[in-house]
Amino acid sequence: MSSTRELNEQSNKDSLKTFTFIRLEKLGISPSKGLGQNFLINQSIIDKIIFASEIVPSDTVIEVGPGIGALTRSLVKTGADIKAIEIDKRLASTLKEAIGDPENLEVINCDVLESDINTFTNGKPYKVVANLPYYITSPIIRHFLENDHQPSEMVIMVQLEVAQTIMADPGDMSLLALGVQVFGAVSQVCKVTKGNFFPSPKVDSAVIRIVPYDEPLLRKSERNDFFNLARAGFSQTRKQIHNPLSHALPLEKDDIIDMLEKSDIDPRRRAETLSVEEWMRLFEEYKSRI
Ligand code: SAM
Repeated sequence: MSSTRELNEQSNKDSLKTFTFIRLEKLGISPSKGLGQNFLINQSIIDKIIFASEIVPSDTVIEVGPGIGALTRSLVKTGADIKAIEIDKRLASTLKEAIGDPENLEVINCDVLESDINTFTNGKPYKVVANLPYYITSPIIRHFLENDHQPSEMVIMVQLEVAQTIMADPGDMSLLALGVQVFGAVSQVCKVTKGNFFPSPKVDSAVIRIVPYDEPLLRKSERNDFFNLARAGFSQTRKQIHNPLSHALPLEKDDIIDMLEKSDIDPRRRAETLSVEEWMRLFEEYKSRI
């Protein structure tokens, strides 16, 4: 179709918003709410994501959900090896051609949660850069952070409220915050208001960066026990932590109190107030009792 070149030329001149509308019209589709299709229509947000990702040409980058290619267009310009994983066949099958068939782009049509990261990356180090589908934000983060082949960093767009939850300090901790912070350091790149997407979602968003620790705090073999302990602790929020732990763990109340005291944690504190370091101390004591 001769219009592909015309489209690219036009999209270079026009705004990202125009590119988005033309692509959708060309494909004859409307964005799927069920697949979390809220497309970025402001290039300056994309520039911020690219800048924060510090991509060099020797990098391998996994983009989750390239959609119609708003972010992908800029990712390929970095010269890095881009692997774009898109579940929507209508978008995946036309993406490469739509953005000028770049050599350094591979589009993979599958569910990211079913994807074998090692195969896509040939076991090489990689980054994840994405505007995530919000309905599966946590499973996607876990899919990468709990993977044997972890990314060197993730720069991802998530709902603002989720970003704030993930970045929480002791006092506002949750299972989600602990589940991310035990794997790596989290920081905010920028806030993104809802008007920067088409269609506009109900809530604002934020780009966050997660950098996994060089030395993991937990061995893979310890993760189940650690998260059993954490789930137990957070099972009754706003209660003194000895209560939910005694309720949910197969240990005597005295043992729970002793475990907390030996970890230098006042049993009357609430789970939300514990730092990652305190959870790790508590886990050391817990391990010797199971
Ligand atoms: N990257 C594009 C952008 O910024 O405009 C689109 C982002 S949109 C928020 C999320 C994308 O993820 C959609 O293209 C959607 O089809 C795709 N997606 C949804 N669920 C997915 C899954 N399980 N695996 C891979 N892609 C998925």
